[in-house]
Amino acid sequence: MGSVLLKNLEQMPFGFPVDDGPFAMYRINGYPTSPLVEVSQLKGHLALLRHFAALRTTVDGLKQSEMSVWHDQMPEDRELRWTWFVGRAVERFERWCQSLMSDDTEAGIWNVLPPLDALMVWHSYMLNPGPIRCLKCLKTLEAPLMKEDGTGYLQQNFILRCPAYDCQTIRITKETLALYKLSSDIVRTEPRFWGFLAGTLRTSMSDLNIGRATNVKDAILLAKELKEPPGSDKAAWIQSIMKNVNYQLMDIRKCMTSKVKGGDGRL
Ligand SMILES: [Zn+2]
Repeated sequence: MGSVLLKNLEQMPFGFPVDDGPFAMYRINGYPTSPLVEVSQLKGHLALLRHFAALRTTVDGLKQSEMSVWHDQMPEDRELRWTWFVGRAVERFERWCQSLMSDDTEAGIWNVLPPLDALMVWHSYMLNPGPIRCLKCLKTLEAPLMKEDGTGYLQQNFILRCPAYDCQTIRITKETLALYKLSSDIVRTEPRFWGFLAGTLRTSMSDLNIGRATNVKDAILLAKELKEPPGSDKAAWIQSIMKNVNYQLMDIRKCMTSKVKGGDGRL
């Protein structure tokens, strides 16, 4: 079976599944890769989208007598009503975010999830990358999603440069954006769980390994490139880290892994 799979793979263009079954393989950047999402996750996502669609159908189809039961200020006009509903959902989502406590992570996901309208807002925030900011001057930049030369935000060769003179040498790519995110995570100390680095808190061995996450964070902060410059604020600290690693994700990885040794170091 393996050879048939590989033969098929050779004929497959970028990103297309070879097989619909659970053994499907994909080609990513020329390499056969196992699926990045599970069939069950796809089914879950589709079910969620179906619930969002059903919610809109319900809101659109409300009779006047039913509207007052939902809310006494619900607009009668159908389009207006949906806009109003989404506006309230945004408000509810924000309140839900603010009400989260750090020990909610221990309560189990089903006890913490917000209602469907707030989930809908969360979902759309995740689809929208938000404004792209220059890594150096932090000015918001216009980033087209698709460009003819393949350098749009959603495309593989995404690249953007800030027009400011001092920023001309900085290339904004998926890699340097990841470096910015990682540097921000390194300097962040609170709230408690947000101070840990991605992939260090939950491991295959444990759901919540606080001891390990703390050790990893403490260890990597010993790297001289990542040390807080005396008297600087967090923003200046982030800039110092990125400069020290030459704006290269590879360089920050090197100085992090040099400080994290041992069998379960997964960075
Ligand atoms: Zn700039």
